[in-house]
Amino acid sequence: MTTEQEKIQSHDNHRRLQIPVQPVPKQKPEDRVKNWDESFLGYSLEAAVVEAERCIQCPTAPCQEACPTGNDIPGAFILLEEGDIEGAANKFRETSNLPDMCGRLCPQESLCEGSCVVGFAIRPAPLGKQPPVSIGRLEAFLADYQRKNIGLAKPDIAPATGRRVAIIGSGPAGLAVAEELTLQGHACTVFESWPVPGGVLLYGIPNFKMGKEILDAKLEYLEEMGIEFKNNTMIGKDVTIDQLLEQGYNAVFLGTGAPVGGQMRIEGEELANVHQATEFLVRGNLEPEQLPEAMRKPLDLAGKRVLVVGGGDTSMDCVRTAVRLHASEVTCMYRRTEAEQLGRIEERIHATEEGVQFQYLTTPTRFEGENGTVASAECQRMQLGAPDDSGRRRPEPIEGSEFSWPCDVVVLAIGYSPDELLEQTTPGLRTTAWKTVRVDEDYATTRPGVFAGGDNVNGADLVVTAMADGRRASEAIHHYLVSLD
Ligand SMILES: Cc1cc2nc3c(=O)[nH]c(=O)nc-3n(C[C@H](O)[C@H](O)[C@H](O)COP(=O)(O)OP(=O)(O)OC[C@H]3O[C@@H](n4cnc5c(N)ncnc54)[C@H](O)[C@@H]3O)c2cc1C
Ligand code: SF4
Repeated sequence: MTTEQEKIQSHDNHRRLQIPVQPVPKQKPEDRVKNWDESFLGYSLEAAVVEAERCIQCPTAPCQEACPTGNDIPGAFILLEEGDIEGAANKFRETSNLPDMCGRLCPQESLCEGSCVVGFAIRPAPLGKQPPVSIGRLEAFLADYQRKNIGLAKPDIAPATGRRVAIIGSGPAGLAVAEELTLQGHACTVFESWPVPGGVLLYGIPNFKMGKEILDAKLEYLEEMGIEFKNNTMIGKDVTIDQLLEQGYNAVFLGTGAPVGGQMRIEGEELANVHQATEFLVRGNLEPEQLPEAMRKPLDLAGKRVLVVGGGDTSMDCVRTAVRLHASEVTCMYRRTEAEQLGRIEERIHATEEGVQFQYLTTPTRFEGENGTVASAECQRMQLGAPDDSGRRRPEPIEGSEFSWPCDVVVLAIGYSPDELLEQTTPGLRTTAWKTVRVDEDYATTRPGVFAGGDNVNGADLVVTAMADGRRASEAIHHYLVSLD
C-alpha cells in the first residue's frame, strides 16, 4: 500500500468507527413470553447496510480466522455496503451450508465477534466503547433476505458419478455432507431415526431461537437437489452399516451427534416428572406427529414449579420453554458461578428478562417424591476449588449446607454424549474412552469406507463446528469415492 492509499484507508477507518452500532430489534420480554416466535426480529435492509459499514475491512480479518467455517466476513459486508445483497449472501454460502442458522445460533462472542477489531477500538466521546460488528445477525439477515426476496439459484450439480453414499443422521454435519457430495454428482441417502429430519436443529433448538421454517426451507432445497431422506430408520437396529455396504453404498458418513443425555446418578431420578432435556424440549416445542409415539403426550406445566439443572445453552432453552408453558416458577440450578457458565450470555439475559431465577453454586443431591412424582430436591451449596481439566474451578460441596427445594417438575440438562449403538453393531469401528468415534485427519474411521464428523467425534459442541466438519469430511469422502474408479 502506498502512503497516499494508507492515508485514505486511515481516514475511512476513522469515519467507519464513528458509525454507532445498529441495534437488532427484539420482542419485549412481556410480549415474547406469550408466543413461540423468535425473540430477535432481525435487521431492516437500511439498518443492515449501516451496520455493515461499521466493518473497517481489516486485511488480516481476525473474525474470519475465528469463524470455524472460515466465512469471508469483510468480503460479504463490502458487497452489502455496495448494494449487492445476493453477492453478499452468496459470499457466506461459499463456505457455509447453513448461514441463516449459524447467524442465529453461533456463540459469536467467543467466535467471530469476539475477534472483531471494531469491538476493541477506542473512540472519542460521545461514542466511546462500542460493541463489535453484529456479524451473526448480518449473516442471518442476508441469508433470510435472499431466501425470501431473491430466491436461491438452482445448484450447479456435477454429472452423476454412479457412486452412492449413506449418511447416518440429519443434523448439521449430515446435511452438509449430503449437500456437498450431491454437488459432486454422488447419490446421497440420509437415514434418520426420528420421524422428521433435522437433528438437534429440529428436536433441540426451540422456535424462539430459530423459527422452524428456516429448517423446512433447507430440507426442501436439499430434497429438490435429489437427496433422499429415509426417516424412522435406526441404523444399527433396523439395518446395520455392513448391510448398507452390502446394499451397494460405496461410502458411509456417521453424523449421529451426541444424543444421550447425562444422568446425575442420584436417588429419585426415576420419579415421574423428572425429565431429560431433549424429551422435555421436544414435548414442549414440537407437534405430536413430529415425535416418536412414546413422546407424544404434551407437557402440562401450568402453575407448576420447574427446576432445571445445568448451566449451558440447553438449560437456557429448557427454562425459556418452561416459561412459555406457563410454569408458575422457573429456576436454573448450576453448581458453579455465572463466570464459569459455558452457554451464551445473550441467552442468560433473555432468561432473566423472562423471569427465570438462578441458583448458582448449588446442586441437587437427591430428588424426593410423593406418590411416585417428584415433590422436592434435596440440595447442597458449593464453593469453587482448584481448576479442573477444563481450566474452570472445580465445585466442592460445603458440609452442612443441605436444604430442600420444593418443585413439581425437574429437567436434567447436564450434557450429552454419543450413543454406543453403532460401535456395538459395526465390526472394526473404534471409539474413544469418551464414546466419541475415532477418526484420522481425513475424518476416516477405523472401518474402511466409513467416515464420521460432528458431535459424535468432537463431543457435544456447536452447529457451526458440526457443519464445518461435514464440509471437510465430504471432501475426503469425494477423494475416496474417486479413488475407487
Ligand atoms: C437443546 C440444545 C440446544 C442447542 N443450542 C445450540 C445453539 O444455540 N447454538 C449452537 O451452535 N449449538 C447448539 N446446540 C448444539 C448443536 O445443536 C449440536 O452441536 C449440533 O446439532 C451437532 O450436529 P450433528 O450433526 O453432529 O448432530 P445432531 O444435530 O445431534 O444430529 C444427529 C442426528 O443423527 C440421528 N441419529 C443418531 N443415531 C442414529 C442412528 N443410529 N440411526 C439413524 N439416525 C441416528 C439423530 O437422531 C440426529 O437427528 C444445542 C444442542 C442442544 C441439545
Ligand atoms: S458461522 Fe458463526 S462464527 Fe462464522 S461468521 Fe457466522 S456467526 Fe460468526
